[in-house]
Amino acid sequence: MATIAEIIACIEGFAHPMYQESYDNSGLIVGNSAKKVKKVMLTLDCTEDVVEEAISTGCQLIIAHHPIVFKGLKSLTGKNYVERTLLKAIKKDIAIYACHTNLDNVHDGVNRKIAQKLGLKDTSVLSPMKNTLKQLYTYAPLTQAEAIRQALYKAGAGKIGQYEDCSFSASGSGTFKAIGNAKPFVGSLHVAHEENEVKIEVVYPVHIERRVLQALHDAHPYEEIAYGLINIEIPNKDLGAGLVGTLPKPIDEKQFLKLLKANMKVPCIRHTKFINKKVSRVALCGGSGSFLLNDAIRAGADVFVTADFKYHEFFDAESHLMIADIGHYESEQFTYEIFSELLLKNFTTFAVLKTSVDTNPVNYYS
Ligand SMILES: [Zn+2]
Repeated sequence: MATIAEIIACIEGFAHPMYQESYDNSGLIVGNSAKKVKKVMLTLDCTEDVVEEAISTGCQLIIAHHPIVFKGLKSLTGKNYVERTLLKAIKKDIAIYACHTNLDNVHDGVNRKIAQKLGLKDTSVLSPMKNTLKQLYTYAPLTQAEAIRQALYKAGAGKIGQYEDCSFSASGSGTFKAIGNAKPFVGSLHVAHEENEVKIEVVYPVHIERRVLQALHDAHPYEEIAYGLINIEIPNKDLGAGLVGTLPKPIDEKQFLKLLKANMKVPCIRHTKFINKKVSRVALCGGSGSFLLNDAIRAGADVFVTADFKYHEFFDAESHLMIADIGHYESEQFTYEIFSELLLKNFTTFAVLKTSVDTNPVNYYS
C-alpha cells in the first residue's frame, strides 16, 4: 500500500502543479492525503458512474485528467452532477485527484502520448512557456567551486534541452571583512580579506528552486553565501502548449486522416478542405487547442490535430494547413496510460485499474 500523498508526489514530480494554467484546479479535490490505498482507478473525467465503479471495485482513489471542480462551491447539496459526484465520493471515502493542464504542459505529457499513437518523431513543444526558468549565480572559493557545481547539477540545475551539467564560471577576486561573532571559512576576524573566487552561473526550472537552494547551502562553505537569482524570460523548450512532430514518411491527406481515425479510435473527423499536399509535419494539442492555430502555422505544420474548433475558426486555416478536429474526449482518451506507466514504474504496492465507463458526453449518430 502507498499513501495518497506518495502517489501525488510521484505524479507531480513528473508534472508539477506550478505549471497548471491559472483557471485550472489540479490537485487533490476530495480526500485525506495521509490515507493508504490498495487500488487506484484511472479516468479522463470523474463522473458519478466512475465513483460508483470505484466503490464496486474497491478503489480508494480516483485519478482523473479533468478536475470535477473548477470554481469555488458555496454549497454542496447535490443539485447538479458535480455536487452529486463529490457527495458520493465523500460519503464512501473515495479520494479524487486531478492532474490537468500541468500534464498538458509538460513535454512528455498528454500531447506526447498522442504523438506516440501517431508515430511522430522529433517532437517539440508548439508554444513554449515563458518565465519558468531562473538563473542562480554564486561566488565560491576556487577550491570549492567544483564541489558546488556538482551539488547544483545533482539537484537538477544546469539542464538545457539535450544537455546537462551546464554552467558558466568566471574567476575573480572577492573581498570581505568578518566582524562580530563571525567564524569565517577563510581569513581572520576584523581583517580585510581578499580571496580568489569563482562566479558560478546555472539555469534551473522554477519548480526545483527549493532543492537547488538547499544544495547550494549544503555545498557552499561560507557562513554568508553570496548568491542571487534572476528570472529568465526565454521560453522553456520542455514546457508549454501543444506539440509538433514529423511522420516517419510523408503521406497524403486522406491517408493521414485514415491513420488518425484508426490510431486515435475516432468515429469521425471534422476537417478543413484538402490542400493537396503531403502530410509530414503534424501539430497537435489534446483537448481545446484552437488557440494554437497560429503557432501550428508558424511551425510549418501540414495538419493541426486538436478538438473543440468553432465554425468560424475553421476559416482561419486558410490554405496554410488542414485542421483535423477529432473530438475532445477522443484526443485525450489515452491520457490514463501516462498515469498507469508512471505508477507501475514507481510502485508495486497497489493495483491500478482503468475505468470501464465511457465518460464522453458527446455522442455521434450516423
Ligand atoms: Zn481536456
